[in-house]
Amino acid sequence: MQNGAPPADKQALSPPTCFGTISEARFAAHERREARLRKPQPWAVRKLMVVTVLGIMGYTAYVYAGRFAVRLIRHGRRPAGIGLLVGWSPLYLWMVWAYLKVIFTPPGYAADHIPQTPQPLFPPTQWNQEVHPYNGDVDAYDDAVLAEIEAGRIGGPPYENLPPTNGDAHPHPPAPAPKIKRTPSSRPIPPGRFPPPTAALLPPNRYCTRCEIVKPYRAHHCRMCGKCVLKFDHHCPWIGQCVGARNHKFFLNFALATFALTSYTFASLLAFNVHRDGDVDPQEVVIIALAAFFALFTSTLAVAHTRLILLSQTTVESYTVQTLKEREADGLRIAGLKEWDCRAKRQALASYDAEWGAPNTEGNLWWAGSKRKGWEDVMGASVWGWIFPIGAPLGDGLHYVPNPRFDADGRWRRRSEWPAELR
Ligand SMILES: [Zn+2]
Ligand SMILES: [Zn+2]
Repeated sequence: MQNGAPPADKQALSPPTCFGTISEARFAAHERREARLRKPQPWAVRKLMVVTVLGIMGYTAYVYAGRFAVRLIRHGRRPAGIGLLVGWSPLYLWMVWAYLKVIFTPPGYAADHIPQTPQPLFPPTQWNQEVHPYNGDVDAYDDAVLAEIEAGRIGGPPYENLPPTNGDAHPHPPAPAPKIKRTPSSRPIPPGRFPPPTAALLPPNRYCTRCEIVKPYRAHHCRMCGKCVLKFDHHCPWIGQCVGARNHKFFLNFALATFALTSYTFASLLAFNVHRDGDVDPQEVVIIALAAFFALFTSTLAVAHTRLILLSQTTVESYTVQTLKEREADGLRIAGLKEWDCRAKRQALASYDAEWGAPNTEGNLWWAGSKRKGWEDVMGASVWGWIFPIGAPLGDGLHYVPNPRFDADGRWRRRSEWPAELR
C-alpha cells in the first residue's frame, strides 16, 4: 500500500488487460495525431521559405549582373554585356515586384467576414435524403428545425442515413468502416456518369469545426495556416501562405514573370558559356541549373493555372472533375473497352455529356458561363493587370453565383432538369 502500488480494491475493479492497454495506447496515439494535425505550422516556419526565395533572387542578381555582365564588359565585350543587362533588369524588377505583391497580399480569410456560429443541423427533410423545400430560405429552415426539436425528433435517424459530407467538415461522427474484403472483381463499377451526391451548398456541409464558422462558398480550411481561406486554391510553400481569392491573380503574375526571367537568364548564360575560352565560372553554372529548374516549374504552373482560371476552377475543385473522369474511365474498362477503343470511348463520353453536360464547365458548380468571365473574375478587367501585378480581381471572394445547372443544394442535375433556356 505504501510503496505506490494501486490499492487492492482498485486492482480488483480494473484489472489491467492486454487488450485494454493496447486500445488505450491506440486511442492516445490517435488523439496525439489529431492534435498535431489541428495545429497550424508555426509562422516562422511558414515564412522561412520566403527568406530562402529572396536569398535565391539576391544571389541570381549578384551572379548575373555582378559577375557575368561585369566580366563581359571588362573583357572587351562591352556592348554585349550592357545589352544583356538592359534586357535582363526589367524582367528582374517585374519578378521581384510580383513576388512582393503576392507575399504581402493575403488570400482573404473567412473568419474576418463571418461570425462564429454553432454547428447547423441538416434540414429535417435531408434526413431522408429528399430535396429540401426551403431553397435557401434560412428562416423557414430554422423554423423546421425548431419544430423537429419541439416534436422530440431531434437527433433524427442514425448517422449512416445522413448524406455524406465534404472535405474537412464532419458534422457527425464517421460511421465505422464496413468489414468487406474489397478486390477489383468484387467491386464492379457500372459504366456511366455518377456526379457526387454531396449537397455541397448546405450550411451543415460547409461548417468548419476548427474555425467554427459556416464557410462562404468556395472557402476551405488550410491546415498549414490554421484558417479558412476564401476561394482556397492551394497552400504555396514558396510564398509562405495560401493562394486564394485575393492573391491568385498575383500568383499567376509571379509565375509568368519568373518564367520570363529564368528563361532569359538560362538562355543568355548558356549561350555565352558554350563558346567560351578559359575557365567557366562555377557560380554561373549554379545559376544555369537553378534557372532551368525554375523555368520548367513556373511554365508548368502558369499553363495549369491559366487553364483552371479559364474554366472557373480552383486546384481543389479540379480534383472533383478529375475523380469523376477517372471513375468513368474505370467503368468503361470494366465494361470491356480496351485502351485502344478510342472511338467507342469517345462515343460513350459524348452520350454522358448529352445526358449531363460537360464536366469541366456545365458540371462545374462555379462555372462563370464563359472563359472570358472566368478569367476576368480572377485576373481583373484590365489587360495590363493580366501581365503585371496591378489591379484587383472582380468580386470580394465571398459571393459566388452557383451554376444554375445544379439544384439549390449544389447537386449537379441532368440536362433534362436544367432551366429550359440552358438545355
Ligand atoms: Zn477553418
Ligand atoms: Zn495556407
